[in-house]
Amino acid sequence: MADEAGEQLDALLARVFGFNAFRPGQREIVEAVIAGRDTLAIMPTGGGKSLCFQLPALCRDGVTVVISPLIALMRDQVRSLREAGVVAGALTSGNTDEETEAVFQALDDGSLKLLYLAPERLAATGTQAMLRRIGVSMIAVDEAHCVSQWGHDFRPDYLRIGELRAELGVPVAAFTATADAETRAEIVTRLFGGGTPDSFLRGFDRPNIHLAFAPKNSPRRQIMEFAAARRGQSGIVYCGTRAKTESLARALEADGHLACAYHGGMAAEDRRLVETRFQRDDGLIVVATVAFGMGIDKPDIRWVAHADLPKSIEAYYQEIGRAGRDGAPAETLTLFGADDIRFRRTQIDESPAPSDRRSADHGRLNALLGLAEAHACRRKTLLGYFGEESSACGHCDLCDRPPELIDGTDAVRKALSAALRTEERFGAGHLIDILTGTATDKVRERGHDGLPTFGVGREFSKSQWQALFRQMMGLDLMRPDPERYGALRMTEAARPVLKGEQSVTLRKDAMARTAERRPAVK
Ligand code: ADP
Ligand code: ZN
Repeated sequence: MADEAGEQLDALLARVFGFNAFRPGQREIVEAVIAGRDTLAIMPTGGGKSLCFQLPALCRDGVTVVISPLIALMRDQVRSLREAGVVAGALTSGNTDEETEAVFQALDDGSLKLLYLAPERLAATGTQAMLRRIGVSMIAVDEAHCVSQWGHDFRPDYLRIGELRAELGVPVAAFTATADAETRAEIVTRLFGGGTPDSFLRGFDRPNIHLAFAPKNSPRRQIMEFAAARRGQSGIVYCGTRAKTESLARALEADGHLACAYHGGMAAEDRRLVETRFQRDDGLIVVATVAFGMGIDKPDIRWVAHADLPKSIEAYYQEIGRAGRDGAPAETLTLFGADDIRFRRTQIDESPAPSDRRSADHGRLNALLGLAEAHACRRKTLLGYFGEESSACGHCDLCDRPPELIDGTDAVRKALSAALRTEERFGAGHLIDILTGTATDKVRERGHDGLPTFGVGREFSKSQWQALFRQMMGLDLMRPDPERYGALRMTEAARPVLKGEQSVTLRKDAMARTAERRPAVK
């Protein structure tokens, strides 16, 4: 439809913002916001969110109120809008009296199109009355995940946005880069009163980044080889501990690279030195903990390696995403081993977070394990987690070399049946005890040693079953139950497998020993 309207948008995009095309996802969002629908847009950092409320603000009558948590960012946007000839202003604690005066002047003469408000302004007396008076046409909420009490960025004043929306009766357009389902649900509850905004999720793909995982065999050698093949290029190696960053940096130096360690235990001054050097020089390798990255804005990082498994799929995405910002080819490698998984699990279990938070963290770790154990295109799996559909990318290790697969239908059905017969209330450990016929106290107390599934999976070792459960999660046949800590539930996708209507293939490399050891008697 609306070819003409579409052309008008293109013209506005070019004339005011100087862009000759929308980025993926932008047009749909812009159209929904202009139409006055409640919208929730999830786009990665740098994806171009601000345009998605700035352009609609110009097309709608009245003032668009923009709530944003960062004063510096607001001032920045106001400045560039003004340069583009748009009447915009901000009310923040950083204002001079003249600036504030100018904002009120523009409000009075009806010329102001965008009013940026710091969230704490919402609590100030008179703000609500002022907003009622000026004819607000919509509320745009930047960094909408700040309403989430779970996140690190929680801003209590964001909770007032929901009330404001109800009081003004105007649409809300919310934006965030945080894609996980819990945060999304919380945004919907708190900003939209639980209503259903039009949701958009696009642009998470970074096609120039090659994705690869490898089981951690001899990590030092694996990282050294990866770096040696990229000599002279800027790269980051992420490590799980401070000590490791230092020893690995020394090893890389001994191998003739320029390398430095970076972690939170270093003096602020030393850290700044590394940051500046990395930004300025070519070919430096920074071996770092996750403390390195915030605020690193180097476009030509050519590779990122993980010597240890990141803590979640989100962390993984963010960390590899530091490579190749310039759009030129970039490489990544993530090592993972059983120790990593244990380390990350314990870290979550021992965190002081409430239990529902911990179980969500286990879910995010599981999603990363699913990605590590994926059978086919990693990018498709990764983007799928963020809710974005795609086809095989041709630019990841699994597209390069598809893994050998074996038929795992029988084993998967046994696992599913163990879960169902115990009402999907247990985790992999307990289910594996049942399958392997291990009569632990817990198994006996619940009478699970009397189940028909008890001992039907003796042909596999516990670690093989663990690999199988991880693969099942990777295939989304089972998912951690968000309501019940540690428990696994069968997904809809598993139903046809259980009913014998569909078969399942598994990666041979994880299950190979199984096939060899399968006893001949059965
Ligand atoms: P974020 O999603 O992180 O808020 P921004 O809105 O700051 O991202 O946009 C990131 C960068 O992309 C900005 O420099 C912006 O000017 C640019 N940008 C946004 N939309 C387009 C477009 N359609 N074409 C070209 N550049 C764009
Ligand atoms: Zn691929």
